[in-house]
Amino acid sequence: MKKSHYFKLVFSLLSIVFAFALPAKEGMWIPSRIQQLVGDDMAAMGMKISVEELYSINKSSIKDAVVHFGGGCTSVLVSGEGLLLTNHHCGYSRIQSHSTLENDYLEDGFWAMNKSEELPNEGLTAAIIKEIRDVTDLVMADMDELVSEEDRAKHISAKIEEIVAEATKDSHYEAYIKPFYFGNQYLLFITEVFNDVRLVGAPPSSIGKFGFDTDNWVWPRHTGDFSVFRVYANAENKPAEYSEDNKPYQPLKYLPVNLNGADKGDFTLVYGFPGRTDNYITSAEVTKSLEVINPQRIEMRRASLAVIDQAMRSDKLLKIQYAAKQSRISNAYKKWIGQNKGLIRHKAVAKRDSIERVFTERVKANADFKSTYGNTLAALNKQSEEMLPLDVGRNYFIEFYYMGPEILRFAESFATLVAASKSDTTTDEQIEALVKEQFESMGFFKNYSAAVDEKIMKAQLPITEAALKKYLSFNLIPDMGKASNLNEYTEMLYANSIFSSSERTREFLVKYKRSAYKKIEKDPAFQMAMRMIEMYYVAVRPKLIIYNTAKEQLMRDWMKGMMTVIPERTYYADANSTLRITYGKVEGYEPFDGANYMHYTTLEGVMEKEDATNPEFVVPAKLKKLYETKNYGRYADQNGQIRVAFTASNHTSGGNSGSPVIDANGNLIGLNFDRTWESTMSDIMFNAEICRNITVDIRYVLFIMDKYADAGHLVDEMTLVE
Ligand code: ASP
Repeated sequence: MKKSHYFKLVFSLLSIVFAFALPAKEGMWIPSRIQQLVGDDMAAMGMKISVEELYSINKSSIKDAVVHFGGGCTSVLVSGEGLLLTNHHCGYSRIQSHSTLENDYLEDGFWAMNKSEELPNEGLTAAIIKEIRDVTDLVMADMDELVSEEDRAKHISAKIEEIVAEATKDSHYEAYIKPFYFGNQYLLFITEVFNDVRLVGAPPSSIGKFGFDTDNWVWPRHTGDFSVFRVYANAENKPAEYSEDNKPYQPLKYLPVNLNGADKGDFTLVYGFPGRTDNYITSAEVTKSLEVINPQRIEMRRASLAVIDQAMRSDKLLKIQYAAKQSRISNAYKKWIGQNKGLIRHKAVAKRDSIERVFTERVKANADFKSTYGNTLAALNKQSEEMLPLDVGRNYFIEFYYMGPEILRFAESFATLVAASKSDTTTDEQIEALVKEQFESMGFFKNYSAAVDEKIMKAQLPITEAALKKYLSFNLIPDMGKASNLNEYTEMLYANSIFSSSERTREFLVKYKRSAYKKIEKDPAFQMAMRMIEMYYVAVRPKLIIYNTAKEQLMRDWMKGMMTVIPERTYYADANSTLRITYGKVEGYEPFDGANYMHYTTLEGVMEKEDATNPEFVVPAKLKKLYETKNYGRYADQNGQIRVAFTASNHTSGGNSGSPVIDANGNLIGLNFDRTWESTMSDIMFNAEICRNITVDIRYVLFIMDKYADAGHLVDEMTLVE
């Protein structure tokens, strides 16, 4: 038997055999294989619907109601008219983009009282998975075992292109193929992508983001983290660009809402698109992330957040301009802090180490294993060490260039104009067109303050400069000019750059002549941007590509090796933004000695946390009134309370934000929006005893819509079950 066939066989047999040895809770499962993988376990845990109701390609199933929202979050269809629920933090940048000082929807909320008031969102997509197909054999077909990793990669991308073209021909569907288990398996996803998705409603941030950064990643939690959109389609109910003539999309399936909610011990299932996990990285990689990568990211973000938070507190316009950026930066910042704490406390390195020891011993004791995997771990460890400077370079490229002072990327956007102006083959019309494009990119200034940006650079530049010197011997500022230190250098950069003000940029563009490219080249912000580009694209990325190519093969072997050598462990594929099911129970947890967290919170807790002097904990007057008068309608629980959020033992990740949380009968009980502080480590190591996802109770969502926002017409669109 050919070696590759042997592995394929072992691999598919193992995936089935393991299914019976899997413990509950940990794992993110591929819906098309859910029966073989964990079907029995789900039933044993209390699921009453069949797996066919979760995923089917022959009839409508719950998967048809689960929608990839903007490519980064999840959402769920809840009405026959395309009504879509997701998190407030998933809709946040859209809500922000519609906000002005006069109509501050972030601050005050937004509710379309009829369909004509719903707001279009350019570029926002809603993708539904039509089918998932295992195409491993097709992708691997004709693959000679001896081809180099580069040839292998080329072969695979050619095959992928072919298969995708074949799968989408004669239809309006789109498709993509992703590797699983580090390239041991390939799955094809056929999708229907809608691009007219309108904003229908959002609570004020004092509800949708209640507790802000202080409560983010924390339990007990009292955030009404939801927003409402609607998918529109053309007259044939198919995807179409925005048009007034479009009609609300009629889905194949939408989820009924369970007004009784769920309680301790009840089965829960989360259906969504988890973004990324690293559950199989080696102990050396865990150590690197704990000791170098995460601390660097944390330091950089702490520095920029100190500036942004202060600015947002000082001025209403800055608060709107920087809201979405602040959230983007602070969300991962806080997660990494929690992740490091959890990984240290729960001895992640030692645990990975002990798996590696078992692996090594078993490999040594078996001649077949030895010939195949004898060198895998040692090679990975060596690589990890050698890659450190490159990883650091990449880290700062992301943190300084992408997430830091925005003037750099704006300045860099002029590089095409520079190149075109220098070339003798470009026409004046082409230059004009480029200048026009640059004018259009000036929308950038809508959410920009040069003063804030300058402070961010002052805070981050010394850290970046020192790290690049230390790890890469790279000098970010070869010529300091008249400046005697980095602070002065930064001040001069903002004072002299064309790109630090919209007026200067406009004036420059209005008068633009070819020869003016020299001014851009001399611009200090442009120069720094180019230096960062050089650092990454010349000093780091080419080497990184070589290492990563080798790493792909090693990780593929490592994964296959672990599955073969230690078959008694649980193996599910790492999250990769594809559709997954994870299941568990509604339950609280004991995070540390002496503490026992309940599984739900109520409106009482919102009032307990209220602090009119702290913008993170302000409670809107109307919500207080509803609380005082107990005007809860049909949304109260059996004790007459409004439940806000609950925890469950579902293995989720970023990207699962907005995922429907579903009960044993296939009804919606909430929207997943977070994990607890002690769970943030689950992207690297899941612990079923303490890792909990946080869900906003669907009854709170409906209560806010109906009683708070007077948008009961939206609730009327839904199917409620009691
Ligand atoms: N709140 C999280 C996020 O925004 C969701 C999660 O990671 O559990 O990424």
